[in-house]
Amino acid sequence: MVENTVIIGSGPAGWSAAIYASRAQLNPLLVEGTPQPEMIPLGQLALTTEVENYAGFPAGNIRAFVESAVATERHYNLPPAPKGHERLGQPHYAVQGVELMELMKQQALNFGTRVRSDDIVSVDFRKPPLQLRTGEGDVVEARTVIIATGARANYLGLPSEDRFKNLGVSACAVCDGALPRFRNQPLVVVGGGDSAIEEATYLAKFAKIVYLVHRRDQFRASKIMQQRALSEPKIKVVWNHVVAEVQGTEEQGVTGVAIQSTVDDSRQQLEASGMFVAIGHTPNTAFLAGQVKVNDKGYILWQKPFRTITSVPGVFAAGDVADDYYRQAITSAGTGCMAALDAERYLAERGS
Ligand code: NAP
Repeated sequence: MVENTVIIGSGPAGWSAAIYASRAQLNPLLVEGTPQPEMIPLGQLALTTEVENYAGFPAGNIRAFVESAVATERHYNLPPAPKGHERLGQPHYAVQGVELMELMKQQALNFGTRVRSDDIVSVDFRKPPLQLRTGEGDVVEARTVIIATGARANYLGLPSEDRFKNLGVSACAVCDGALPRFRNQPLVVVGGGDSAIEEATYLAKFAKIVYLVHRRDQFRASKIMQQRALSEPKIKVVWNHVVAEVQGTEEQGVTGVAIQSTVDDSRQQLEASGMFVAIGHTPNTAFLAGQVKVNDKGYILWQKPFRTITSVPGVFAAGDVADDYYRQAITSAGTGCMAALDAERYLAERGS
């Protein structure tokens, strides 16, 4: 059997593509991944806590809604409602990343999307039908493929950093920065590119002080962004330092960051309730082995502005795998919709 549309990836782009493709009666198959560092089922949102900026999900009794919408057999996937977020004795919080993804998955399932818990480990796009090899060793053939495999944030790779992920260590200030644990607290941002400065500037709105720790004595960021950081009184740039260790406890989360000079042997201790790592992202494109055109950082290139068309006929790309700029759940969902519409039109033009 040759599938009409196979969607690879299970973040907001993948599920949104699936909702549109199934409603267009393309009977899509979504390959959601298996748990491993290269491709995490439910995407990067599965790694975050509350998502306060996804339109349509203001804080409220999300738990009751999620439980009413998501099939009972998947309730065990749902994280507990965050503590200390009650109103009138009911949970009152913004939707959590896993809840949002389970809702999107449910919406796609409701319209008939078929889901396979497997990875696509390699592809053969040299001639139609498009061929996808799964981790279990099967070959899936398709007329159209939507690549929505996302990108993963680069981390420093310290064991202490890993220990405090979701306990004060984050790679997304826009997602997590406004959480109560960071309000009016000293915070650390690591990196010297546009993202690091953007994150530091954003965090300066809530934080007591933001230490921007960079390993060199010059920013990589654009001049205008540099100016923004240097003129913000709440941002203190710490040049020529790298993070040696993240410190804290299970109860309190992050309480401090030890930094090491890159020019001599000195160490410093920064008091901080959070550390935001902004040292770039890596798109999940290795399995394509160069068969789809990518930019110099490995992100898939759209061949026309505002079209999700890639360099391979019938192959479309959506979400962070084709976006090193916006990287928001809501923009990913939007491009997922676009990719499904592009795939539908591609098939219709060929009479499929
Ligand atoms: P980036 O430009 O690649 O910068 C990464 C930064 O992290 C660099 O300063 C780098 O240091 C540092 N770094 C990398 N590995 C490190 C490590 N192991 N330890 C410590 N520091 C490390 O990435 P980005 O800032 O995420 O930006 C990605 C793209 O998005 C860029 O094209 C950027 O212009 C764009 N962007 C634009 C905006 C905006 O215009 N508003 C906002 C965000 C992003 P070195 O400098 O020493 O290499």
